[in-house]
Amino acid sequence: MIPRLNFKNQQKSKSEVSIFLEELTKTAFSGEIRSDFGSRLITSTDNSIYQILPQAVVFPRISEDLVHLFKLANQEEFRTITFSPRGGGTGTNGQSLSTGIIVDCSKYMNQILELNLEAGWVRVQPGVVLDQLNAYLKPYGVFFAPTVAPSNRATIGGMINTDACGKGSRIYGRTSNHILELAWVLSNGTVGNSHTINKTTLAELKQHSGRLGKIYRQVEEIVSSKWELIEQTFPKIPRFMTGYNLAKVYSPAENNFNLNWILAGSEGTLAFISEAKLKLTPIPKYKQLLVIHYSCFDHALKAAQTLLELQPEAIETIDEKILELAKQDEIYEYVKEFIADAQVINLVEFAVDDLEDFQQKISKICHLIESKKNQPQQATGYYLAKNGEEAASLWELRKKGVGLLENKKGKRKPIAFIE
Ligand SMILES: Cc1cc2nc3c(=O)[nH]c(=O)nc-3n(C[C@H](O)[C@H](O)[C@H](O)COP(=O)(O)OP(=O)(O)OC[C@H]3O[C@@H](n4cnc5c(N)ncnc54)[C@H](O)[C@@H]3O)c2cc1C
Repeated sequence: MIPRLNFKNQQKSKSEVSIFLEELTKTAFSGEIRSDFGSRLITSTDNSIYQILPQAVVFPRISEDLVHLFKLANQEEFRTITFSPRGGGTGTNGQSLSTGIIVDCSKYMNQILELNLEAGWVRVQPGVVLDQLNAYLKPYGVFFAPTVAPSNRATIGGMINTDACGKGSRIYGRTSNHILELAWVLSNGTVGNSHTINKTTLAELKQHSGRLGKIYRQVEEIVSSKWELIEQTFPKIPRFMTGYNLAKVYSPAENNFNLNWILAGSEGTLAFISEAKLKLTPIPKYKQLLVIHYSCFDHALKAAQTLLELQPEAIETIDEKILELAKQDEIYEYVKEFIADAQVINLVEFAVDDLEDFQQKISKICHLIESKKNQPQQATGYYLAKNGEEAASLWELRKKGVGLLENKKGKRKPIAFIE
């Protein structure tokens, strides 16, 4: 959202923040410190309806900067100052906004640190953008599988903290399914890292003095004592992402405990992620995108249930509202032939390694659509994308969905505010 400029009486930073920033310059903090109105204004919005002006923005360069920052913040006189990590600022719920200090890791902490193809992982800083990571990995035939529509801006830190997932989540799951290890800094400057551990290691970690030991003791106590309640309450659906994912932290049966399940999706409320070791997935050999046409939304939704049985990588419905709005957008020129006169479409993508099996599957669906096309409630036609370019344009249409709604002309505009 474009920031409004009339933040009355807020253009000057509060004095405690000014003192804090002054003190920060005296530490070994090597990052950038900004309290000018312009920098604050830029970080006062994300993709939500909220606009909150922070007091300052800091840009750490290295993990140690976070330690210096939070050690200082932990001093008694600065305890009232709040901090919010920020990545690409594409969050749709104002998660990265704060009246305190924004800690933006997208500017400098955006390096890919290490790749281990044999072991199947990559180690990155949190400010690495998803498209940047996948462009780097592509020549090696692997990718980071979870995705989000604004993949050219969203960072790994933001994806971890929203447990993001998008197209392909049916097969690949969410970001938390692809985290091997996280390094983090707590609000008092304590550093730690988390990965799957067994009961013996957990018992050792619980003995630690200070905040680390307390965290392990407390989390284990909660998940053990409330195990039944957690089992009953947490929905067993793949895209659930509300609150801390306590259901996954501890598995007594498998003898493993992993804090990453609650760090993922914690929206920066538990720790600042300073590094992530992520699982790599082989890029599927073949992909094919099928555009199925419908005359109404309900028919497209109903058909999705049957289409799911064919195990597509992704299936997304684009309704009449978005298709109508797309007509005023440049993307329409690229996709209009594939949509023809459909009111609603289902984009169905398959990703496989076995070409023969794949071709059989596709021709079976096309044949089915063709044979039923004049029957009530059935698809009215289909288009099979001929190449990656056509498929990319169609997915671009899907990615533009939220933006198209927001650009609707006139006074009445849909506002996205619940995710
Ligand atoms: C058009 C559009 C479509 C979208 N589609 C999807 C989608 O398909 N699926 C989906 O899941 N989301 C989607 N989103 C939401 C958003 O893109 C994701 O939530 C994304 O993961 C946010 O990444 P970011 O880098 O922009 O994070 P930000 O918005 O900057 O931050 C998100 C949260 O992460 C925290 N955070 C960031 N970095 C760190 C760090 N290093 N340590 C600790 N906390 C940190 C922030 O404090 C905040 O709570 C969409 C957004 C837009 C605008």
